[in-house]
Amino acid sequence: MRAGHLQGLGIKTCGDLLFYYPRDYLYYSAEKPIAELRPGEMGTAKGRIIQTRLIKKRPVRFEALLEDESGRAVLTWFNPYGISDKLQVGLTVRATGKVTMFGGRVQLAQPKFEVLDDAAEGVDDRIDSHIDAVYSATLELPTNVIARIVREHVATLVPQVEEWFDAAHLKERGYLTRRDALKAIHLPRTKKEAEKARRTLAYHEFFLHQLAKAIKRYHQRTGQPAVILRADDVVDARIHKLIPFALTAAQERVIQAIRKDLQSNKPMNRLLQGDVGSGKTVVALYAMLAAVATGHQAALMAPTEILAEQHFITLQKFLEHARVRTAILTGSVGGKERAATLAGLLQGTIDLAIGTHALISDDVAFKSLALNVIDEQHKFGVEQRAMIRGKHGAPHTLVMTATPIPRTLAMTAFGDLDVSVIDELPPGRHPVVTRMTVAANRDQVYQFVAGRLKEGEQAYVVLPVIDEGELELRSASQVQEELQRDLLKDYRIGLLHGRIERSMRQHIMERFRQKLIDVLVATTVIEVGVDVPNATVMVVEHADRFGLSQLHQLRGRVGRSEKKSFCVLIADQTTDDGIARLQAMVKHASGFKIAEEDLKIRGMGEIIGTRQSGQTDMHFADLLFDTDLLMLARRDAFLTIKNDPRLLAPANASLRQAVLARFGDTISLADVG
Ligand code: ADP
Ligand code: MG
Repeated sequence: MRAGHLQGLGIKTCGDLLFYYPRDYLYYSAEKPIAELRPGEMGTAKGRIIQTRLIKKRPVRFEALLEDESGRAVLTWFNPYGISDKLQVGLTVRATGKVTMFGGRVQLAQPKFEVLDDAAEGVDDRIDSHIDAVYSATLELPTNVIARIVREHVATLVPQVEEWFDAAHLKERGYLTRRDALKAIHLPRTKKEAEKARRTLAYHEFFLHQLAKAIKRYHQRTGQPAVILRADDVVDARIHKLIPFALTAAQERVIQAIRKDLQSNKPMNRLLQGDVGSGKTVVALYAMLAAVATGHQAALMAPTEILAEQHFITLQKFLEHARVRTAILTGSVGGKERAATLAGLLQGTIDLAIGTHALISDDVAFKSLALNVIDEQHKFGVEQRAMIRGKHGAPHTLVMTATPIPRTLAMTAFGDLDVSVIDELPPGRHPVVTRMTVAANRDQVYQFVAGRLKEGEQAYVVLPVIDEGELELRSASQVQEELQRDLLKDYRIGLLHGRIERSMRQHIMERFRQKLIDVLVATTVIEVGVDVPNATVMVVEHADRFGLSQLHQLRGRVGRSEKKSFCVLIADQTTDDGIARLQAMVKHASGFKIAEEDLKIRGMGEIIGTRQSGQTDMHFADLLFDTDLLMLARRDAFLTIKNDPRLLAPANASLRQAVLARFGDTISLADVG
């Protein structure tokens, strides 16, 4: 029966039991005189039982009165079976439990206890200031039963576990051995030991993860070579001439790093992080033009059709005076147009392809793809990156993201990439003034919007749904009509959402860009990438329905020129989380700060459970605070692979096994071993 219950918790083998980690600890304080016990703490007291009684009225309970020199406390059990026999008047007992006040008296509820009279030397002394592991439990299998089973088996299970590192390696870094850590995580003697065990196991987790990244990286380096691209000074000057503004120092820095990558036959694998509006697109353009200048092709993949369409227009504008042949490929491109594009890519008559994941369909083949760019990577999911195939060699890859994810998370998710950061906005940008308000003030919000429109500026209004009827929410179409009819009737209000057909959608975006539409009412189709610098106001209705990074992205649609921009978040009567998110938006302008807030509000589990995969096996590592551990583990892991790329050294045998067991399918260690 117990085996069945254990299986219910995912514990099928003895080994699983060892890796069923406590979710928390209970710290018992050292023994104290009864008079010094304070409500709210875990207290331990020793004394004599001077009275007991079984109360049969519901709730049935058993009470024992414990006395020492300083005073008396009531010990209470609500599930008294088996206890009333053991606790007789006159016995000396040590009890430990949560201290409460009940009827003016100190009470220990549901305490653990030991009878000290029978065999004083046989008594388990651990109760003196000790720690109990707390496990995720079920009704049938409470945490103390799990703890007991673990306690009974730890000693036999632990020696069967393989060490990954030699003792010196761990000691040097201040960690326990893997075995000691596994033992201590279940049966820590002190708080300090529990934390040391946690850090040790977190280091192991990070290490294994980074080891997989290092192996991947090694294969990128030693696998198929990439085409060496011409990014010399002549080409560099030619590309710079096409860019109508001076690049920021940060943009130049990233471009220099990319130039170096491209002039090597090792495929570039670079992640470009930069907050919304920091100007990643021109950096991508630079890299793509280096490919084209060398006589090869480049591709740019975006997560939404609207963004792909916009990139297509933007890049064509940059390339007005260049002889670069561009084409767009999305799910909406069909029939003859699609056939022509596919032929052009295959024959090499198209230099630059811009599109959505339609670019990685089976029937898409390039004559000579030398570089691909993935924009807004966080919308794709980690495993899906870089799958555009070239016919010759491995393409260079540039992955771009504005997603506010903290550095540690980025390192775990993208540990096999080189990372560049644009940490500076183009000159003259002001932080977007952000306010939150309630729906009762909508009229005032739109009066404010009207004021900006009067100045010739433009606005977005974003809603969570397209049509009414879906939930009890104002919808995009409803708000568009309402604004046009009433609140903003002197202005031209457009409507944009994912169900509008492509040519119409392009038409609407183009009209908005040309200021023939003043206000664009939209769903989150405009969340990423859309770039219309004259738009200065972003209104989000039902704002508490949106996630924090989504709100940050939406806000990033404004503040794209030297004009002062505004973001108004309209909330319903909302949950605590919703309010916390909106407050974070009001307080922080930086995507990285927002990311940290997001972690705090949603907690690790939520974020880890997201598409940033490969994280779910992190039990101990805290991605927000364990940066030092991660950096150390990363350094160690990359060094290990540098010295022993296939992990064939006898000393690395258990590591090899561990990494294969965990990542076997995704790394190519197996076939080269
Ligand atoms: P994101 O990093 O969010 O993709 P974009 O590449 O869309 O940002 O750039 C935002 C806006 O800033 C665009 O209109 C772009 O043309 C402009 N921009 C980019 N770099 C500069 C710069 N160095 N100086 C002035 N404007 C710039
Ligand atoms: Mg962008």
